[in-house]
Formats: sequence, structure tokens, C-alpha cells
Amino acid sequence: MQMTQNILIIGAGIIGSALAYRLGQSGCTVTLLDPSSDGGTASGASFGWVNASYENPKPYYHLRRYAMDAWTRLLPDLPDLPFTQNGTLYADFYGIPLQTLFDEHTPWGYPFEWVTPDQIAALEPNLKDAPERALFCGIEAQILPDVAARVLRDAAESTTHIKTSATSLITKNGAIIGAQTPNGPLYADITILAAGTQTAALAETIDVAVPLDSPAGLLIHTKPTKPLISHTILTDGLHMQQRPDGTITAGGDFGGGSINDDPESGSKELFTRLQSALKTNSLEFSHYTLGIRPTPKDGMPIVGSPKRGLYITVMHSGATLAAGIAELATAEITAGHRDALLNTFHPDRFTA
Ligand SMILES: Cc1cc2nc3c(=O)[nH]c(=O)nc-3n(C[C@H](O)[C@H](O)[C@H](O)COP(=O)(O)OP(=O)(O)OC[C@H]3O[C@@H](n4cnc5c(N)ncnc54)[C@H](O)[C@@H]3O)c2cc1C
Repeated sequence: MQMTQNILIIGAGIIGSALAYRLGQSGCTVTLLDPSSDGGTASGASFGWVNASYENPKPYYHLRRYAMDAWTRLLPDLPDLPFTQNGTLYADFYGIPLQTLFDEHTPWGYPFEWVTPDQIAALEPNLKDAPERALFCGIEAQILPDVAARVLRDAAESTTHIKTSATSLITKNGAIIGAQTPNGPLYADITILAAGTQTAALAETIDVAVPLDSPAGLLIHTKPTKPLISHTILTDGLHMQQRPDGTITAGGDFGGGSINDDPESGSKELFTRLQSALKTNSLEFSHYTLGIRPTPKDGMPIVGSPKRGLYITVMHSGATLAAGIAELATAEITAGHRDALLNTFHPDRFTA
């Protein structure tokens, strides 16, 4: 019979909270450590587009595709998850020809379809300057990652949220046995680092390298407006979606770029692009957010155990990946089964 494991998760963004939910369900006792209860830092500044088309060597595609389905596996038990599977219209994809995107992904089974100007107009009647053809992918989705993190955290069984920070990890006989906090040590059978961009600093306290190269990401948000956009839309230099509260969120790049350097003028530029992309004069700028994307140096997720007692989960595209990573990491932590989907994402790739 399996012993109950005590798990300490550092970070309650979308990754840590999804892990708490799945580990709690598997019979673990979980302590979730985070000074904030907002649902994450990057998670609160994320575009939240759930897809398997972005930055895709084949193993990453398969992980992302698995993770997309993992969200739908959560929905029956968590109907409040702010997850909408409304699909994406690709009118343009940041310099990558749409034909290349189609040719790469459809042999893997990704359901891209070509759509004509009439179909584009039916999908998004308020989009100006529809191209001669575009791609549509109906299984892609939108999520609000910080809200999802809070839903997952609040529903997590056998989980206690302690509102404080880990300051370092504690080692004994070569294994990690917990973390130090300003209120004293917390011990655990397994400590999980899910602290987003702060993961590297915590890992450094036990000489584990987690090389990150975390670019900024600027998004603009409008005031709530009438329904104008039904899907995630990618156009020339702009990605946009309308959220359930009626606000429209838009960004100008997926990984750094000059638009982020001066957010005041970058956000004005983005708002101008948004206004000229849509057939409406009712848009009102509300505010911008500037997030930092927790991105490993090679762009790929870092998931696995570099040392006894320690498990690391840091990645970009956590909005897409969190539910899937939570399932796969839980299987590895509780049953010792490392799924082949995780093969190329082990932290040891940086030390080998
Ligand atoms: C602008 C932008 C757009 C994005 N767009 C997309 C997208 O469209 N699709 C997609 O899939 N992904 C997207 N991402 C990436 C995605 O949002 C992130 O990968 C994901 O939110 C990371 O979640 P996380 O839980 O690892 O980190 P975070 O959300 O940053 O959470 C980490 C948590 O750790 C806590 N913490 C930090 N240090 C400590 C400590 N010492 N002790 C205790 N707690 C600590 C923090 O308080 C925080 O709550 C985007 C990100 C940004 C910034």
C-alpha cells in the first residue's frame, strides 16, 4: 500500500495550484506556499491562449496537445474553471507562413482547417481586412490563468495554503527535505518548485541550475464592450480575444520584442493596432499589464526531479500546460511513473 506523501509546493500560480489539485486528489497531503493569494504573477498577466501550435518541436507539440485535453478532463469536476474552448482564427502568425503552420501540424493530427473570406466573415464579422484565406482551429481555447489557479487551489483536497515565502531549500544527506521560511522551516517528502521566474533563485540555494531567459510581455485591456470577437484572433502584429467580462485583451508579440521596451508608448501603439483591426468605434482603452514570462533558456518546459526530494516545474505556456503537467507530475511523484511525454523536458538537460 502506498504511503501518504507530504508535499510542499512553492508557488500558487497556475502551475502550483494545478499540482496541488491533482496531488491532493491522489491522496497526498499538500502545503502550498505563496505570500500572495492572487493566483500567480505571470498567471495574472497572461494572454491565456491554450494551443499546440506555438514553438513546436514534435515532443513539445505532443505535450501541449495532451495538456489541452487535460483541461477538458478537469471541467466536469470544476465547472467554474474560466476555460472557453472557442477556437482560434489565424489570419496571420507573426511572420510564419500559414501554409508552413498547416504543413507542420496537420500530419500530427492537429485539426487546422482553411477558411475562405466568407467563412472568416461568418466567424468574425467585426474583423476588418480579412485575408484571402486563413486557418481556423476549433479545439484551441482561452483561459484566465490566475482565476483558474484560484479555482484549483480552493478545490484542492488535503491542501493548506500558507501565506509566506520560501527563502531557501533545506538539504539533508544529499536530499531536499523542505524549505526555510521567515517563520521557520517546513519539511516535506517532496518539495516542488513552482515559483515561476523565482524558481531559479530558489534552486540556486542548493546549487541546482535552472537557466531562465524571461522576456517581458505587454498586454492592453479595453473597458467592457458589446460582443465583438468570438474567438482568439491572430492578425498582423496583433493577437486579441474578448474575455467573459466583455473586455478585449490584445498583445503584439509572443516572446519579448520592442513593443515591451516602453510600455506607455507600446500600449498606445497596440491600442491603435486594435482599433484599426476591428470594425467598431466603441473601443475604450482601460489599462496595460506588463508580465514576465517564466521561460527556460531553450524555450522548453523544465519538469522533473534533479535531486532526491525535489521536483521542478517551470515553463512558458503554463496557461496551456498546467493541467497536463499536473497530471504527469502527479503520476511521477506518487507512482514513480515518468511518462514518455516528459522525456525531453528533464532539468538534467542543463547539467548533462
Ligand atoms: C504577457 C504574457 C502572455 C502569456 N501568454 C500565454 C498564452 O497565451 N498561453 C500560454 O500558455 N501561456 C502564456 N503565458 C505564460 C503563462 O502565463 C505562464 O507560463 C504561467 O502563468 C506560469 O505560471 P506559474 O504558476 O509557473 O508562475 P506564476 O504565475 O508567476 O506563479 C508563481 C507564484 O510563485 C510565487 N512565489 C515566487 N517566489 C516565491 C517564494 N520564494 N516563495 C513562495 N512563493 C513564491 C509567486 O508569488 C507566484 O504567485 C504568458 C505569460 C505572459 C507574462
